[in-house]
Amino acid sequence: MSNRSDTYRGRLLRVNLTDSSSKEEEVDPDILRSFIGGRGLGAALLYNEVGPGVEPLGHENKLIFNAGPLVGTGAPCSGRFCVSTKSPQTGIYLYSICSGRFGRMMRKSGYEVLIIEGKASHPVYLVIHDGEMIVQDAGILWGMNTEETERNLRQKFSVRGGVSVACIGPAGENMLKVSCIISEKRAAGRGGPGAVMGSKNLKALVVGGDNQVSIYDEPELKKIMKNAHQLIMDNPFLMDSISPYGTATSVNLSSAHGVFPVHNWQRGVFEDIDALRPQRIRKEFLLRDKACPACPVACSKITAVTSGVFAGAKTEGPEYETIYAFGSACDNPSMESIIYADMLCDQLGMDTIACGVTIAFAMECFERGILNIRDTDNIELRFGNGEIIPEILQKMVKKEGIGDVLSDGVKRAADRIGQGTEKFAMHAKGMELGGYDPRGVKGQALVLA
Ligand code: SF4
Repeated sequence: MSNRSDTYRGRLLRVNLTDSSSKEEEVDPDILRSFIGGRGLGAALLYNEVGPGVEPLGHENKLIFNAGPLVGTGAPCSGRFCVSTKSPQTGIYLYSICSGRFGRMMRKSGYEVLIIEGKASHPVYLVIHDGEMIVQDAGILWGMNTEETERNLRQKFSVRGGVSVACIGPAGENMLKVSCIISEKRAAGRGGPGAVMGSKNLKALVVGGDNQVSIYDEPELKKIMKNAHQLIMDNPFLMDSISPYGTATSVNLSSAHGVFPVHNWQRGVFEDIDALRPQRIRKEFLLRDKACPACPVACSKITAVTSGVFAGAKTEGPEYETIYAFGSACDNPSMESIIYADMLCDQLGMDTIACGVTIAFAMECFERGILNIRDTDNIELRFGNGEIIPEILQKMVKKEGIGDVLSDGVKRAADRIGQGTEKFAMHAKGMELGGYDPRGVKGQALVLA
């Protein structure tokens, strides 16, 4: 059993990229007690740290990474970390939760909160290990996709034992407002946190170390964890639906209730639904199930395409929202193209929801004759044409031709195209809508408000 002093207490490392300095602090105990961890603590810290006039992509914006008190304790489903910042898409508060090992390794590095401020004069990455922080030149990594970046850094630091990496791809480097932060093929995805990292010339964070995640009353926590584990195992939705099919199981639910957005939100039922069902993914594309540390659910699905034009694509997913964005929203029944697009978005560091919804919008512009074939660089941007999605994503990340118009998401694309297109640009406050139609899921309207 540990004493109180070495358990969770908001150990914070503040890193200033402008002068490469860092300072150890502790979160104000009143704030910690009130907001505990995760998104609550991230929001409270951001509120105190970033004023209303701060530009999201300016050097005064800050990035907050935090891992809550259960992270690293072995509690079921606790393998998460939270990223909070001011969103370049909405101009307001952004939080994004990402699973995987990064949160646990961050706590093992000695910190529960990282606040990153300022802007480096050139591309850098941070190594935070056993209570020490160093800023390293990232020139060689700049331009690499997230897979290459992570592989490179993990190889380099494997001598120090386990490390975890969170990084941006070319989309974040180019400050696309649809860019995200990727860690172990998982994304802190919504609202453009990758662009904030890119604006700071920060390519990656490497965290790890040997610090023990101390528990104040281990026997009591073990008892609670055992109960929680049993509750999960007894939950039929988690074990009979989420466990075999992942979040893709929601395709069946949304479709049955007519709230699965189709054809850029013009309908709520997809005619070719069998092509997108989770049962098909499991039968035809699944390689294996994967779980975050200490999770009995194992909702992650590693899938691959073995034949056809997208043969060789391999991804962790696709999640429900990705199937909606690249599938039903684009009227696209090609699961192969969805898996490929999911892989590409992870590699380039782009949010699949933002990209899919923006492409669906462009398809509607094309079919209404607002965009013509010259506007789209000779690409037939029609609903159902899943084969063109990867090409559009590549153009978006390079800000090339039609990709430049779409690169900052659907609201900015509608602003640029004009001609009344804002009426069918599906976003709330600049961020593309997730895949539950609030006309049928009333509570979702509150989420979007
Ligand atoms: S495997 Fe899925 S259910 Fe389990 S912690 Fe990770 S994201 Fe959550």
